[in-house]
Amino acid sequence: MNILVINAGSSSLKYQLLNPETEEVLAKGLCERIGIDGKFTYKAPGKEKIDAVDVAMPTHAEAIKAVLDALVDPKNGVIGSMDEIDAVGHRVVHGGEKFAKSVLLTDEVMATVEECNPLAPLHNPANIIGIKACQQLMPNTPMVGVFDTAFHQTMPPVAYIYALPYEYYSEDKVRRYGFHGTSHKYVAGRAAAMLGKPLEELKLISCHLGNGSSITAINGGKSVDTTMGFTPLAGVPMGTRSGDLDAGILEYLMTKHNMDIKEMLNVLNKKSGVLGISGVSSDFRDLDEAAEKGNERAALAVEAFEYSVRKYIGAYAAAMGGVDAIIFTAGVGENSKGTRANVVKGLEYMGIKIDAEKNNFRGEERDISAADATVRTLVIPTNEELMIAMDTAALVRG
Ligand code: ADP
Repeated sequence: MNILVINAGSSSLKYQLLNPETEEVLAKGLCERIGIDGKFTYKAPGKEKIDAVDVAMPTHAEAIKAVLDALVDPKNGVIGSMDEIDAVGHRVVHGGEKFAKSVLLTDEVMATVEECNPLAPLHNPANIIGIKACQQLMPNTPMVGVFDTAFHQTMPPVAYIYALPYEYYSEDKVRRYGFHGTSHKYVAGRAAAMLGKPLEELKLISCHLGNGSSITAINGGKSVDTTMGFTPLAGVPMGTRSGDLDAGILEYLMTKHNMDIKEMLNVLNKKSGVLGISGVSSDFRDLDEAAEKGNERAALAVEAFEYSVRKYIGAYAAAMGGVDAIIFTAGVGENSKGTRANVVKGLEYMGIKIDAEKNNFRGEERDISAADATVRTLVIPTNEELMIAMDTAALVRG
């Protein structure tokens, strides 16, 4: 089975053609600067690489056309015709309370997906444009929507309710939704396989630490709490996002610096996090380098991030009444042995302890627990595209 996975943003579109059974990636790439000029990138094993070449992309339709043309190209393509694409899996950021699972995108379902737009005005409309462009070009191919929020719909009300007047939840749908659900779900499944135990019997804390970060408590395979909230701004400090803060700060800073709410949110989304604290970079590699050279603010930024992750591990162990395994994933979690070690430092009393030798690597699936640890610590590279393809294939097979 060949599944095309599409992740459409407002001016870019990532794609991957893969076989969810063999996990083989046939081709992947990226369309950028859609609506501006258009750059096309394509990579397939054993084929000529196309690297950011000019292809006119006034809309997402031309971008998807370029993807399909490349996939069936007689010389560089990987399939004979479009009929060899069995289904398309689309990443959709927000499914609100309407979608607790991935779903076949019928006309009726599309209308419901569009109802979620106000909850993610920067992301969902772009995802929908991508779906519609694909439907036009491939009217007979089944399309599936896979939502970042769906996995977290199992959270109990105590975890998702904000302590605001209840009407803001019941009328306005303001609640914790959580994001990165596709990633948390994927690594939880892999963790169960690595531990050789049914997911239903495991209490897991999954730490997706990348440019955007979130931690999720997964009890019996279900998300029961997560750090991101109504928007992806909440939780631990991130590359440029503040994470949790006292809402009173907003009024104070807006008055003092004469900012409107748009400017304030721009600060919170784009100028805060480890970039804000350090003044150096949002990239953890740059921060490690600066810290090594004695930059104290860079060191503080990384330490504040690690401290916050550690606090949530403690909180989620409390929320679940225990924990069997901690999972590190995404750019920082997969690659930074220093951050992994610092996050779990001091948690030995909980039975969490890693082996420095085993931790000395990057980017692979491994158990890094010390011999005497009672809670396992796992590094699991995330694979959101594969998870989307797996969900898509399952729905199409019925
Ligand atoms: P996104 O949220 O954009 O998908 P990623 O999951 O790709 O982000 O993570 C990107 C982050 O991973 C960057 O901050 C980068 O510095 C960090 N990273 C990648 N490799 C390393 C490494 N070897 N050490 C520390 N951080 C790393």
